Amino acid sequence: MTAIRFEKFGTEIRILTPLKGFTEETHQVEVRKDPLLGHKSIYNPFLREKVKFFFHECDDTLIGEVIKVSEKNCDFCPGRIETSTPSVVSHI
Ligand SMILES: [Zn+2]
Repeated sequence: MTAIRFEKFGTEIRILTPLKGFTEETHQVEVRKDPLLGHKSIYNPFLREKVKFFFHECDDTLIGEVIKVSEKNCDFCPGRIETSTPSVVSHI
């Protein structure tokens, strides 16, 4: 069996950014090719902080509280999946 081979290469793109009055910026990006479908995607580490623009800062305190409240009923917490989810009948 042949292992899936992930292909990627670095390149440079130039954009006119509206965040800085449409001045030109050069970004080093990584082009990644999906080994199954052949689709290409571009990862731009320069825009890593852009996620915060859409999703805002992560509230770690709130997330901790949600985890604490939900863990008593969570099927995926460690050790619980074997006892709280259906299993396959052994003769199948
Ligand atoms: Zn859990």
